[in-house]
Amino acid sequence: MNTTKHILHTASLKNNCPICYTTNGLEITFAQEEIENWYSVKNQKEILETIYCQNCNNTIYPVNWNENIEKTFSYHKKQAIPRSSQLRLKKIAYLILIGLTIAILLTFYLVSLV
Ligand SMILES: [Zn+2]
Repeated sequence: MNTTKHILHTASLKNNCPICYTTNGLEITFAQEEIENWYSVKNQKEILETIYCQNCNNTIYPVNWNENIEKTFSYHKKQAIPRSSQLRLKKIAYLILIGLTIAILLTFYLVSLV
């Protein structure tokens, strides 16, 4: 199984970092993981939301968010459009399905001849 991370939206924030108090280090990222196996590709429903400080190299967890970060967060969340989490079959899966259908039809046909 393969996991690919798609970045939906990312932005630099002007907010104070709750840890080092800088105003030019915070970066917000919205990402979605896509899981691929041999026959299908599917995006996870869950959106991974991260606020990271480039200045002190810390991930800022929601417990440390202040009111301003929360406001900025909900503003940016609207810009992160999730990808469809519908299962997409690969060509190989369709080929197997078609092959199986033909095999079943053929069996019925042969049985009806007896
Ligand atoms: Zn910081």
